[in-house]
Amino acid sequence: MEPCQEFSIEQLVMMVSKAENQEIVEVINSLSIRRYLASSDDIRLCPTPGCKYAGFIFEDELANCSKPLECNLCYAKWVDKI
Ligand SMILES: [Zn+2]
Repeated sequence: MEPCQEFSIEQLVMMVSKAENQEIVEVINSLSIRRYLASSDDIRLCPTPGCKYAGFIFEDELANCSKPLECNLCYAKWVDKI
């Protein structure tokens, strides 16, 4: 069985900077965006399974607002606690 292929950060940066393989570039960009969205304090991901909507919030406004958040894609509503 072949081992899983892995790349060093340097190799990934080289691939992106040279844009040798557009498919790999798109995968790296997608992974980077998902990681950013999941780790950012001011981004909320829709909790609906399968929905990929991510919205930007102002935390100070959210703290003073009693209304639930609403997904702009599937219109699910949820209460988010900071
Ligand atoms: Zn949604």
